[in-house]
Amino acid sequence: MTNYPTMPVDGRAKKHIVILGTGGTIAGTGEPGRTTGYTAGTLELQTLIDGVPGLTGLARLTGEQLINADSDNITARDWLTLVGRINALTHDDVDGFVVTHGTDTLEETAFFLHLAAKTHKPVVMVGAMRPYTATSADGPMNLYQAVALARSDAAKDHGVMVVFSDGIYSARDVTKVNTFKTDAFSGRDIGCLGYMRDDTPYFFHKSLQPHTLSTPFDVTGLDALPSVGIAYFHIDADPAVLDFMFAHYDGVVLAGAGDGLASSLWSDRAARLIAETGKPFVRSARIANGMVNFQTNGAISAGNLNPQKARVLLQLALTVTRDHQKIGQYFATY
Ligand code: ASP
Repeated sequence: MTNYPTMPVDGRAKKHIVILGTGGTIAGTGEPGRTTGYTAGTLELQTLIDGVPGLTGLARLTGEQLINADSDNITARDWLTLVGRINALTHDDVDGFVVTHGTDTLEETAFFLHLAAKTHKPVVMVGAMRPYTATSADGPMNLYQAVALARSDAAKDHGVMVVFSDGIYSARDVTKVNTFKTDAFSGRDIGCLGYMRDDTPYFFHKSLQPHTLSTPFDVTGLDALPSVGIAYFHIDADPAVLDFMFAHYDGVVLAGAGDGLASSLWSDRAARLIAETGKPFVRSARIANGMVNFQTNGAISAGNLNPQKARVLLQLALTVTRDHQKIGQYFATY
C-alpha cells in the first residue's frame, strides 16, 4: 500500500482513507484541453492525488492501484479482487474507502460492492466524465468530495455510495443517465441521498434496503461468479435469442418493454425454457423509472432494479441458491 504525504495535522486526528484505483476517465489522458478521443485508465493514483488541491489536508491517505482499465473492460474477477481488498482492509486501522472507477459500468460495480462488501465503513465510488487532461476536468472535484464523504461520520450505514457532480447517491439507485455531460448520474425517480457542498455532506434520505453486512452474499474464496445474461426485447425480437441465453447462462434477465413485458412469442418461449431448464428468469424493464410489479409465468420480478443491476443481484443470488422462490425473496428484499 502506498502512503501519500499528508498536510500537517491541525490538532484533530485525521481519518485514514484508503483509495483503491481501478482506472476510468478520471485517470484518462488525451490531447490537452479536449474531452474526446482520450484513453481511459492511463494515470497512476499518485498523479490523481497530486492534481487535487487540498486533498491531503482532508485525511490520511493510502492507496492501491488494483487495476488501471477502461471500466468497459472490468470483469467479475476484478470485482472479486476489489471486494477482497475492502473486506481485508476493513479490519485494519481504516476509516473509509474511496474507489476510483470508469463511469460506464460504475453502477454495476457499486451495486456489487453494496451487496457483497462486508464492512460498515463508508465506501464511496467516484469517477469523471472528462479526462484529467481536459479543460475544466471534473475528476479533481469529484475525488475531493469522495474523500470528504468517506471520512464523514454522516456517511456511515448507507452502504456503498457514489459521489458525482455534487450529488451523493446510493449504489442501489444510481445509474448513468448521460453519455458525455458532467452531471451524468441520477437516482432516477428515487432521487439522491444528499449533496456535497465543498467538503461537507448534507444528507436528506436513506435507502431502506439492507446492504453490506446485512446480506447473505459472501463471495470470500470464490474465483468466479455465476453467469447471467440480459435479453433486450424490442419489436419483432426473435425468441431464438432466449434459446441462446438459457443455453449459455446460469440465469437470464429480461430488459422488457413497459412493465417488464415482451411479445407473446417471447413470454411463451421464456415460460417453456424456465420449466425445461430450471434456470431463473428475472423480468426487469428498459424504462428508466417505476418498477416491475408482478412475478408471472414462473418469472421473477426485478422490482425497480434496472437490467444491469438485476443481473448483479441474480449473480449473487445464484452463489447462494437455485431456488426460484428464494431468489424472488432476495429481489423483494435487496
Ligand atoms: N469509458 C470510460 C470508462 O468507463 C468512461 C468514463 O470513465 O467516463 O472507463
